[in-house]
Amino acid sequence: MKGFDVLIIGGGLSGSATALNLSKKGYSVLVIEKKNSQDYIPCAGGMASSMQKFLPLDIKDAIESKIKNVEFRWKGSDNVIADLTGESPFWIIKREKFDQLLLDESLRNGVQIIRQGLVEKIIKKNDKWEITCNNKRRYICEFLVIADGSESQWSEYFKLGPRKPKFANTVSLRLKGLGEIPRDTVRFEFGFIKYGFAWAFPLKESLNIGLGTFINDGLLENQTLNNQVIKSFGFDDFSYKTIHKKLRIWNGIHRINGDKVLAVGDAASLCDPFLAEGIRPSLLSSFYAAECIDQCLSGKVDDLNLYTKKINNNWGKSMAWGRRIAQVFYRFPRTGYQLGVKRKTAPKRIAQILSGEMSYEDIAKRVIGRLLTKSGS
Ligand SMILES: Cc1cc2nc3c(=O)[nH]c(=O)nc-3n(C[C@H](O)[C@H](O)[C@H](O)COP(=O)(O)OP(=O)(O)OC[C@H]3O[C@@H](n4cnc5c(N)ncnc54)[C@H](O)[C@@H]3O)c2cc1C
Repeated sequence: MKGFDVLIIGGGLSGSATALNLSKKGYSVLVIEKKNSQDYIPCAGGMASSMQKFLPLDIKDAIESKIKNVEFRWKGSDNVIADLTGESPFWIIKREKFDQLLLDESLRNGVQIIRQGLVEKIIKKNDKWEITCNNKRRYICEFLVIADGSESQWSEYFKLGPRKPKFANTVSLRLKGLGEIPRDTVRFEFGFIKYGFAWAFPLKESLNIGLGTFINDGLLENQTLNNQVIKSFGFDDFSYKTIHKKLRIWNGIHRINGDKVLAVGDAASLCDPFLAEGIRPSLLSSFYAAECIDQCLSGKVDDLNLYTKKINNNWGKSMAWGRRIAQVFYRFPRTGYQLGVKRKTAPKRIAQILSGEMSYEDIAKRVIGRLLTKSGS
């Protein structure tokens, strides 16, 4: 039976980032990942460049575009452009490359990974975790990290995060070429998708397109409408393969650590309930998870409670406002567009949110006040 300081269930973005941060601190880490490899990860790859500071390696090789403009449209027209120049930039990374970069660096640092691995049983023995895997091997570790994404079973098992998780419905696809989207521009398209929106984020030679609904379990099965959205991004003749994914979104302040166990990323229900931003909270939670586990392993603190506090303070407070904005915006999207996007000061505020300079909390009270007064009148 092999022993590790930390065992991580899930080798996606949050799992790899946590493994990397821990390995840089000198700990022995085992990652158990259920898939063999992934050719395509359903994620548009938009991230605030300010997140680089939460990673202990240079990620420039995974950056496909540096974004200068953000375009907003209402049903293909009523154009609004937010200029990102002068703000910290927003990057588009290719997730397959980005995740691999983090994982490769952690493997170089001594992290071990079991692919096509499934954990069958977890018990606590003498204050350590004993994990039995589908390869019939058993592993011992001091700390356990749950990083198994939106369909996490283990966060429920350990009662981490909301009892009743909330999900956004998404459809994603990647098309060759950029259509009419400039290389340095992302586009948000409102009005076509009930209870949500569509987005187009440019990679070097292709476009990541996504459709998402955020309230009322809105479905995305209207193929004609979906095609209309894709056409609005400048594609006339296209065939494509779509991936449907339920994304576990933030749903209230909850405990995301237990005794010697914690959840990170989507498994901890951290994804932004307004814009589906999940890379930032994945990197934040991975960073603080490694920091708090390090403090425990080096005997500075006795438990992981500070982890939940840090995430709630640095992310949850803003998401509480993000959720309120989503509830109002997606219910009254026309008014939301007029008041939240078309106002003179809105593009700058949106740019500041995307670049991580401002939080929803900073702007929300004013926005919601305006939306409620207008939609009620
Ligand atoms: C269509 C779409 C577009 C998006 N676009 C953006 C964007 O532009 N910007 C942004 O910030 N966020 C975006 N997101 C959100 C972002 O992709 C997620 O928040 C992010 O992937 C979370 O990373 P994670 O590691 O927590 O989960 P995942 O990336 O889902 O990784 C979980 C890993 O765990 C593995 N796993 C699952 N179950 C088990 C198990 N039982 N045992 C072992 N391994 C297991 C999986 O195979 C996977 O490798 C988007 C999401 C979607 C769906």
